[in-house]
Amino acid sequence: MSPGAAAPGAAAPGAAAPGAAAPGAAAPGAAAPGAAAPNDAQGLDEDLKERASELRDRALGDEVAYLFVEQLTTEVGSRFAGTASDRRGVEWALRKLEALGFDNVRAEPVEVPRWVRGHARGEIVAPYPQAVALIALGGSDGTPDGGIEAEVLEVADMEDLATRDAAEVAGKIVFISQRMRRTPDGTGYGEAVGKRVTGASKAAALGAVAVLIRSAGTDYNRLGHTGTMRYADDGRRIPAAALSNPDADTLSRQMASGKTVRFRLDLGSRHLDPVMSANVIGEIVGREAPDEIVLLAAHLDSWDVGTGAVDDASGCGIITAAAHLIGQLPQRPRRTLRVFLAANEEFGLSGARAYAERHADTLAQHIAGFESDLGADRVRVMRSRVAPDAIPLVEDIAELLAPLGIEYENNEARGGADLSPLRPHGVPLFDLPQDASRYFDLHHTDNDTFDKIDPEQLAQNVAAYATLAYILAEVKEDFRPAPEFEPRR
Ligand code: ZN
Ligand code: ZN
Repeated sequence: MSPGAAAPGAAAPGAAAPGAAAPGAAAPGAAAPGAAAPNDAQGLDEDLKERASELRDRALGDEVAYLFVEQLTTEVGSRFAGTASDRRGVEWALRKLEALGFDNVRAEPVEVPRWVRGHARGEIVAPYPQAVALIALGGSDGTPDGGIEAEVLEVADMEDLATRDAAEVAGKIVFISQRMRRTPDGTGYGEAVGKRVTGASKAAALGAVAVLIRSAGTDYNRLGHTGTMRYADDGRRIPAAALSNPDADTLSRQMASGKTVRFRLDLGSRHLDPVMSANVIGEIVGREAPDEIVLLAAHLDSWDVGTGAVDDASGCGIITAAAHLIGQLPQRPRRTLRVFLAANEEFGLSGARAYAERHADTLAQHIAGFESDLGADRVRVMRSRVAPDAIPLVEDIAELLAPLGIEYENNEARGGADLSPLRPHGVPLFDLPQDASRYFDLHHTDNDTFDKIDPEQLAQNVAAYATLAYILAEVKEDFRPAPEFEPRR
């Protein structure tokens, strides 16, 4: 068991006010018996509700997640796919799960691509020369030695770029200045990330020599936000970098002068041969139905900047702590809880794909999956994707989450990126998305470090994951068939 685990049942200092910030939260412990009368026939029994409530409240005082994030970011740091620190992260996680008493702790090998960032320099050459803060996008090719210097063409967003013709774009550095909106549900990121992923290929098709984007991020630090970009298979490849928000502003103001703006970009990025990494797995084996899996996912890798604290050491800590708490109950859950710490989510979802392949034969026994990958602030809502006749049961679970300030939103959960390869297999999914208001200040930057983690909000996450995982592992109901996905992106 964990030397660092808080004493079970210890009244946590913060436990009295779970989700205190949540408007409309029900009084803790208010199970409202009888309130869900129409669903009682299929609902949870009172005993199970009682045990789940106790588990939830105990989780609010549990320190395993916080110590996990502190130790991983201190003892390993960043964990970019294929690096030596990625391998140290895998070794660290295996030791951690063993020390916490998990069953069947193992590494499942995964091949990962290997990309090296190298140096990154940018300067406005004319009309008003000055250096700017920028960062290479993950997967970008480097520039030729000495960099690329060219005139800048500013476009508002990807739609604007699509209206330009080759005569206007050819030979230029395209600057996509679209700003990202700050939103609690993270939708601003969805709107802004397209320019990062496909901006270079779209601009290259029109003859551009490089792409600069305004970072897909909401902060005003002079730090660029990295993140993956992809070249079209058959297209030209041009270098791509993200300016910090203040530097994007500067470049826009120089463009607004009406004078010709010239920019020099110098990137030392390069691709190497693929290498091996690993998914890390640990289980709490079920007492009655050990072959039925409740899957808790997060990704162990991070970008090479910062220490990957909110993305995604916190997710790994949350799911590990939740499963660990359930493993410490007097009785094992009926079904098996599986903690899946994925390799290389950031730079190509290698671990997620490898998991779906390796476990293809048992995906039909995956009762449900859910993933933590939106930071460490408080969970706002729960979504499900279950067979319609299981929704009354989900509503009962939602009642247990209400004291944490979590509301049931809808039956349109999508799972996280690491669960996306499971979608076509009809695995029921749950989402517990956090308040992402400040996540994209930190996301994929040098500022993603441990000091940003709020222990009380982190513990609220653990309570939500533990409660949901415990019920799903304890009931006899199946949640299939999960409603099919309509493609979104
Ligand atoms: Zn992530
Ligand atoms: Zn990320």
